[in-house]
Amino acid sequence: SSRSSSKAALHRGRMRLSLQEHLWAFYHERVNISPEEQQAARHAALDICAELRAFIHTKVPDMPLRDMYLSGSLYHDLQVVSADHAQLMVPLILEKSLWSFIPGEETIMNVPGFWLVRRENLEYFPRTSSYWDRCLIGGYLSPKSVLEAFEKLVTGCMNWPAIGSVLGYVVRPAVPSHMEALALSLEVQYDSERWLHVDFLPLLVSEDAVSLIAKPHRERENLWRQSFWSAETTKLLALDRDDNGCRCVCMKIAKAVCKLNPALTPLNASHLANAVLLLSESERDWSREALAERFTQLIRALVGHLEAGRLPCALDPKVNLLCELTPREVDELGYTLYCSLSDPESLLRT
Ligand code: GDP
Repeated sequence: SSRSSSKAALHRGRMRLSLQEHLWAFYHERVNISPEEQQAARHAALDICAELRAFIHTKVPDMPLRDMYLSGSLYHDLQVVSADHAQLMVPLILEKSLWSFIPGEETIMNVPGFWLVRRENLEYFPRTSSYWDRCLIGGYLSPKSVLEAFEKLVTGCMNWPAIGSVLGYVVRPAVPSHMEALALSLEVQYDSERWLHVDFLPLLVSEDAVSLIAKPHRERENLWRQSFWSAETTKLLALDRDDNGCRCVCMKIAKAVCKLNPALTPLNASHLANAVLLLSESERDWSREALAERFTQLIRALVGHLEAGRLPCALDPKVNLLCELTPREVDELGYTLYCSLSDPESLLRT
């Protein structure tokens, strides 16, 4: 039986080798985006950003904003499959004395990772003292209302057909997906077969450097979402740089799998980045040779998180990144991934 077990080990070795080969092939053929394509998409995003910046400065010069900037996976070679989206970050300026940031766990809703932004001193500085008072709902700055204000400007006042034809693009406001019903995005066709979504993402930064984005909680529209994106991205890239690791490759393969498989779309980049960061705390070997093992482990870890209904944010463990998914979505994701464990390669056949 020692012979049959060594045969089994050999067989497992071959299986592992072939998963390893499949993963790298999938990565090169489907996941990774050529530098030229990334460059073309960044170029189009920059053109759109310049138009928006100029328009907003002339049309609403008194709107208190810091400089807008482009951001996202496209700028760190972390985008997958096709270079098709970028975020345009729009930092709002809030008067320190008039606004306060209240963490979600200190509100009746008790949701860590989300915040309320309350208007203060209304008795001395009545409504309209701040530009952003126009976006108040029940005494709080509403991310939904901020998005709607920008929507009026960006889709209502800008002549995108004319701007697009000058730039040589077809530009139109995009219909938000059901996952992000509250979102403002422009669809830019910058080539006969290339499209890019530029998402408009208003942002607040507190005095303690907490950054909040106007991507409201799925059910509680008054809550701002805390962004850990920069810290997560920086950490992943730094870990890989230190040991020449394959964490980003592993995450990108998982992102592509979720992008290409409709049953897995509720899992987003933040779920996957955090699952990889958590796995990095216990696993030291992220050499290229270990990719298949780490990938399988990542899927198993995700199944575990889904079973527990809890995927903690690696940078703030009280935040549960699954908190907005319905129990049914969590079950279905867990089931799909669980079924793939016996044959992880099946995830690559999309
Ligand atoms: P990808 O969109 O799946 O390729 O992954 P990203 O890493 O680019 O994640 C983008 C998502 O993270 C966006 O949908 C944003 O809503 C969200 N996000 C939160 N904070 C930030 C931020 O500071 N910058 C960007 N670009 N996105 C952020």
